[in-house]
Amino acid sequence: MTLKPVRVRFAPSPTGYLHVGGARAMLFNYLYAKKQGGKLILRIEDTDQERSKPEYETMLIADVDSLGMKPDESPQIGGPFPPYRQSERLAIYGKYAKELLDRDMAYYCFCPDEILTQKRELAMKLGRPPVYDGTCSKIPVSESKGRWAKGERAGIRFRAFSKEYLLKDQVKGDVRFPPDVVGDFFITRTPRPNEKEIADGIGMPVYNFCCVIDDHEMGMTHVIRGDDHLSNTARQLQIYDAFKWELPVFAHTAMVLGSDRQKLSKRNGDSSVMEYLGNGYLPEALLNFLALLGWNPGSDIKPSSGHPEIFTMEEMISYFGMDGLHKAPAVFDVQKLLWMNGQYIRSMPLAEIAKRARPFFEKAGWSELMQTKGDAWFTGIVETIRGECGTLGDLPAAAALFKGAPSIEEAAKSMLVDPVNLAVCAALETEVAAFPEVISAEQVDLMQKAVGTKTGAKGKGLFMTIRAAVTGKTHGPELKKVIPLLGKKALLERMAAIKSQINA
Ligand code: GLU
Repeated sequence: MTLKPVRVRFAPSPTGYLHVGGARAMLFNYLYAKKQGGKLILRIEDTDQERSKPEYETMLIADVDSLGMKPDESPQIGGPFPPYRQSERLAIYGKYAKELLDRDMAYYCFCPDEILTQKRELAMKLGRPPVYDGTCSKIPVSESKGRWAKGERAGIRFRAFSKEYLLKDQVKGDVRFPPDVVGDFFITRTPRPNEKEIADGIGMPVYNFCCVIDDHEMGMTHVIRGDDHLSNTARQLQIYDAFKWELPVFAHTAMVLGSDRQKLSKRNGDSSVMEYLGNGYLPEALLNFLALLGWNPGSDIKPSSGHPEIFTMEEMISYFGMDGLHKAPAVFDVQKLLWMNGQYIRSMPLAEIAKRARPFFEKAGWSELMQTKGDAWFTGIVETIRGECGTLGDLPAAAALFKGAPSIEEAAKSMLVDPVNLAVCAALETEVAAFPEVISAEQVDLMQKAVGTKTGAKGKGLFMTIRAAVTGKTHGPELKKVIPLLGKKALLERMAAIKSQINA
């Protein structure tokens, strides 16, 4: 075990939006860093110039910001080990590639791609591991350099050690990599026509090489990442070995499956963080949900929410430990996320939810009304309906009654056409006509009682009929909250609109 101050990293490749899997990887690192009083480093792995785009980096950083997980060091923030963008560290990789060449631990490979593909396919067909056959491994470096000087381009392969590696993984336990799983692998690519050399005779470095160099140079003590990287780890262990560098502690977390237990994809829950936030999921809820995908905080915890699965960030940090990380894959249950988000919407301070809800209402065309009616009215609406909503994006539809004439639901219609309930409707109209312009919750209570006394109606026949006549629905928030927010004028308009739809 390492006694150095903890340094962990989130190292995304800017090749697309930040997805839930990436956010979870960052979260585990964030929680571990905070728990251990360590540092979280955000490193941009952009050596694949064809797939990496600066716009993706910008979006990625924006998503990380919206999730509220602030790294301690990053390309934007800086830190003691700059640069934090791999495309700006090429000279460092060049230096180490040269060192391996000089020590004959690496060699130039001139094999054309098509031949390599053919050989790989043949090996697979024959049931052999698709490792490189070593064609170029015997070419002396002096000869390779000469060929390079004459314009022939080549990638550099690491001369893999033929020995077993034993990884003591914090999640997986002992993972053995037998000697034949890794053949000589590329550490730099054959430069493409428009690509520059990064050092004399050395092309663009590849992920497995840069990752080890950076993790070493940046002083990483732990590498927490998905177990889809285990095959990379097999190669990375060899690089550590070649340089005789101390290994970080590895923790390979189990993968996340979609709700149908298949690989996570768009169809079964995988979306970008931006999409989830844009649809009105709260960052707090998303992080809480992601933390529980593959991590169990244990049973003796007492979150302040009173619910065993709902934690504040501070609580997650205090409960977090590698021993709670699962070996088995986790299932991304979208319904659970929706439920959890609803819990957050209900329990977050009202003013905060109202503030976050505002853009969703503005988008839904509420700006003018919000302006006219004022903040207290808007906050009152959010308070009244938030219990019904799973996402902030659901709020405007749930508040539709306050904006314009409601449409009537079938169940409400059946209630209102039922002759038994006609007397209730008539009495309701009389009571409402007597309301003052500004209606209080007590007056709503009194009104319901009066309608009951006058008609003899009780329970569902009374309350649901009144609700149907006022809102066009049989279920919804308490009328003593809804009616005062509507005010007499709007209430009369809504009731008339509903009535006209029944008679239509
Ligand atoms: N750039 C790699 C990725 O995005 C990082 C893997 C790692 O954490 O080492 O998958």
